[in-house]
Amino acid sequence: MTEQQPSVGRTVHYVSRGSADGAYASECRAAIITAVEPSEGDGSLANMRGPEPVSLAVLNPEGMFFKQGCRHSEGAQTGGTWHWPERV
Ligand SMILES: [Zn+2]
Repeated sequence: MTEQQPSVGRTVHYVSRGSADGAYASECRAAIITAVEPSEGDGSLANMRGPEPVSLAVLNPEGMFFKQGCRHSEGAQTGGTWHWPERV
């Protein structure tokens, strides 16, 4: 388990949302962190849940879009979350 902290300018993976009919699977897309959102409260809960939500510039092959409040999910890689790029 990495203990990296997200910071502006880092490159991560954003998990695209697959289409509801399954025609498009969710996939890892390159994304650059554009902002790290402050955690609420004293941070103890946020620490248990992992890093703060971040804002991303998501780079798709067809174009790019911007996303705010993106949650970190290292294991499940649910659509709409980000994670550190897998080592290959
Ligand atoms: Zn990935």
